[in-house]
Amino acid sequence: MAEKTVVQASNFVRNIIQEDVNQGKHNGLVATRFPPEPNGYLHIGHATSICLNFGLAEDFSGSCNLRFDDTNPEKESDEYIQAIKRDVEWLGFTWHGDERYASGYFQQLHGFAIELIEKGLAYVCDLTPEQAREYRGTLTEAGTDSPYRERSIADNLDLFARMTAGEFADGAKVLRAKIDMASPNINLRDPIIYRIRHIEHHQTGSDWCVYPMYDFTHGLSDAIEGITHSICTLEFEDHRPLYDWFIDNVSAPSKPQQYEFARLELNYTVTSKRKLKQLVDTHAVSGWDDPRMPTISGMRRRGFTPAALRNFCAATPVARSKGITDVGRLESAVRDDLDSHAPRAMCVLDPIKVTISNWPADKTQTLTVPAHPKDDTMGSRDLIMSHEVFIDRADFAMEAPRKWKRLAPQQSARLRGGYIVTCDEVITDAAGEVIELVCSYDENTLGKKPEGYKVNGVIHWVSASHNLPVEVRVYDRLFNDENPDGNKERDFTECLNPDSLRVISKAYAELGLSAAQAGQQFQFEREGYFCVDPDSSNESLVFNRTVTLRDSWGKQNG
Ligand code: ATP
Ligand code: MG
Repeated sequence: MAEKTVVQASNFVRNIIQEDVNQGKHNGLVATRFPPEPNGYLHIGHATSICLNFGLAEDFSGSCNLRFDDTNPEKESDEYIQAIKRDVEWLGFTWHGDERYASGYFQQLHGFAIELIEKGLAYVCDLTPEQAREYRGTLTEAGTDSPYRERSIADNLDLFARMTAGEFADGAKVLRAKIDMASPNINLRDPIIYRIRHIEHHQTGSDWCVYPMYDFTHGLSDAIEGITHSICTLEFEDHRPLYDWFIDNVSAPSKPQQYEFARLELNYTVTSKRKLKQLVDTHAVSGWDDPRMPTISGMRRRGFTPAALRNFCAATPVARSKGITDVGRLESAVRDDLDSHAPRAMCVLDPIKVTISNWPADKTQTLTVPAHPKDDTMGSRDLIMSHEVFIDRADFAMEAPRKWKRLAPQQSARLRGGYIVTCDEVITDAAGEVIELVCSYDENTLGKKPEGYKVNGVIHWVSASHNLPVEVRVYDRLFNDENPDGNKERDFTECLNPDSLRVISKAYAELGLSAAQAGQQFQFEREGYFCVDPDSSNESLVFNRTVTLRDSWGKQNG
């Protein structure tokens, strides 16, 4: 079956790299990296950065490293490292060699710090954090030099050695770069480059009690790895002069060029690890991989595919200016991919019993239908027709609206892949609620048009005696406001959609699904795309609704 070709959106970074390669810069080499801090799970924004960095390396026959910028041991953990590796692999990318860790460069970075001290470009400062804030100045006022700024090189070397040896308490002293307290760029006002933390590190154990700051580490780690194009998001633009200053003032082995692009912002979505962690910690969701989360692991569990995410990223412009992307575009990328790959099945979510009066009570018939309407290679599946079937409550109307194409009293519809049935009688309970329909079937309509009358409607169904009861989790958007983060007066959790999860504990699926495995995807005809959740057991399958068949968000909520 023909795959939809994915449009590659404009990408200014690709154009720059093409130009560099044409001019023979970096000997024509392209080396990129994806540099997460292992302090949470990756989200859809990271997916764009992964696709960009790994994609550029592929396009230019270069390499892309996976490097953990692990300078904050108190917020990091091995759980996050393992999750990040799994997510990058699942997206379909292979990093160059083993994964790397900024902590693997701690010795080298410490040497660079000593080099700065020896050049008179770094000093040990004893100001308290509060004092340091006062000395820093503001956006409109220059800062003031620290009283410790003119310490001698010998004193600084001695103090830094003693900081490293563990002689001082956390926060008692820091090592700062000596740049310019009057710089209009606050990042250059003698930033801290080392701080004291008596804490175990997940990679280096108790080897260190001084840790380099992220800003000191990030750019220099790129230089150590020989990264040619350091691609990051716009908020790091003002840090670039600092990264360059570090690289220019120590014996760095190479000089990467940094390019910044606008981070992906999706409406109806929060993409900040800190906020996502808050949702996990407060049990607003079941975990980082809750299918409503915009995390890669959540989207995977929801049934999104790597191809859908890659196609979405490729079709999203890599721009210099900020913009908001419609989450509907992500959902539609998921639909497009699942439409071509997901086998069809029927499942009745809100059942109402239909008795076929002229079908013998003990008779069954196996009906063979295609697994996919547009792809014969996917084979066929068997449906069982019997005396009683279930249809969805929404496919019956006591009073049919105009152009109604489903069942109503005295109206006919086709059971998908089966016969045409006509509703002869409606049975209601004392409250007037419809509890059963009595229909007759037309035996001459299997795979054929009816003679003498016209039927337009086709509805899904399953046998009431031969089916598979399953649990269905109907997911919807986690936030019901377009911009959950947009109002300072209000916490983003106030926009949590109370209807983002509806559990149907007993829906009825066709029997053929009984062998379905966790992660397998299906289109439940006329309902949407669903996948088997890992919570499933041999006794009972759980299906997650990945996405509806059409974008119905506006209609339901408008
Ligand atoms: P968050 O703000 O969610 O905590 P972060 O930027 O702190 O994210 P990192 O682990 O530092 O997360 O990010 C790794 C890489 O992913 C960085 O290069 C960062 O620029 C990029 N990245 C993070 N969020 C987005 C986003 N929304 N769109 C594009 N790239 C992103
Ligand atoms: Mg970060």
